[in-house]
Amino acid sequence: MNSRRALPQTIAVCSECDWVMRVPPRAPGEAAQCVRCGHHVAPPAQADHQRPLAWALAALIMLALVFAFDFLSFSTRGVTHTMSFLDAAGAMAGHDYPSLGLLLLCTTVALPGLYLLAVVFLCLQAIRGSAGNATRLLARQLRPLEPWMMADVFIVGVLVSLIKIVTLADIAIGPSFAVFCVYAVLLLRCFTLVDWPSLWRDLAPDAVEPTSLQPGRTGASQGAVVCRGCDMPFRPREGERCPRCGRRSVAHAADRLQLTWALLVTAVILYIPANIYPIMSTTSLGSTDPQTIIGGVLHLVHTGSWPIAAVIFIASIVVPISKIIALAWLCLAARHGYHHDSRVQMRLYRITEKIGRWSMIDVFVVAVLVALVRAGALMAIEPGPAALCFAAVVIITMVAALTFDTRRLWGETFETETP
Ligand SMILES: [Zn+2]
Ligand SMILES: [Zn+2]
Repeated sequence: MNSRRALPQTIAVCSECDWVMRVPPRAPGEAAQCVRCGHHVAPPAQADHQRPLAWALAALIMLALVFAFDFLSFSTRGVTHTMSFLDAAGAMAGHDYPSLGLLLLCTTVALPGLYLLAVVFLCLQAIRGSAGNATRLLARQLRPLEPWMMADVFIVGVLVSLIKIVTLADIAIGPSFAVFCVYAVLLLRCFTLVDWPSLWRDLAPDAVEPTSLQPGRTGASQGAVVCRGCDMPFRPREGERCPRCGRRSVAHAADRLQLTWALLVTAVILYIPANIYPIMSTTSLGSTDPQTIIGGVLHLVHTGSWPIAAVIFIASIVVPISKIIALAWLCLAARHGYHHDSRVQMRLYRITEKIGRWSMIDVFVVAVLVALVRAGALMAIEPGPAALCFAAVVIITMVAALTFDTRRLWGETFETETP
């Protein structure tokens, strides 16, 4: 099982800018970057598959323990309410927002749990030596799931919720929250430890990479595409699907800009009700106080919670608006072929793609507050329709970023900068 340690030199086609390059053998810990756009065409090499396997197992154990203890508890004027992790999802479902409960469950525990189980299975298969078609089908689904796992965003959401209500009641953090934090760290570490090129080489040793591709040109100019499932370059005319993982290739000619535009317009339309309607309502001693996103920010400013007001303002107002503007600009740049500052455009795209998920903080804050603040007539919090619209805006802008084909930001040529 250690015979593969002498990793061969390979030809890679960058999935972000389509540049063809040689990837020299990587020693453990060494990553490979695209010479043109800086994209990591290969992550840090791992000595073997044991490390990601061990970290994934540890994360799974922590995930199981999250459900074993109390998450948070809340007491005011003699009334105490304790919530488990599942109560956060259940409370949204109980207030006629089952889709938000499902969203929370999927992004924080269900998808990561399935991902970790799949990583364990794939590492074991890779250690054994090869894998069948079903295993390859599973492997190609995993990386697209990574941006949708938001355990880290949920932790920030919980902290923001606690700071919001700390002056109104006594809050106690349960063991389950501490376990959840450990689980989130292990999950993030697991993403960086899976060495996909080596994993694919061991899962599918029979797949032959094309040897006739010339480095220093684009893949498109040589009739080659890079598979979005397993990163293997191939020529689609040899067969529509990737010979290694079976995923259908996304051809260069496919004009997906229209789809990105359509998603952006939908996000803009949904962002209006997300700001007009209340995101949550607080009922305290018989009086109900509905709060919009911006109303919540202003309330925090008035009560002196500047840092939390800034977090919510950036996550819920600045990030979605700048993301929509940035993507619209990139669509225009791609449509009209502005290739003179491709590196800047690429950086803008990567920032847009990375920060989008953090907008979900406000939705998680609402979910935690609804589940936690339950003191009958004394105080209760209910979700508002804006929470649903806002969650849809975040998801749709994330999908819009994923549908954008960054290869369109780059031309056919590239002059290497002389040091
Ligand atoms: Zn590149
Ligand atoms: Zn493939």
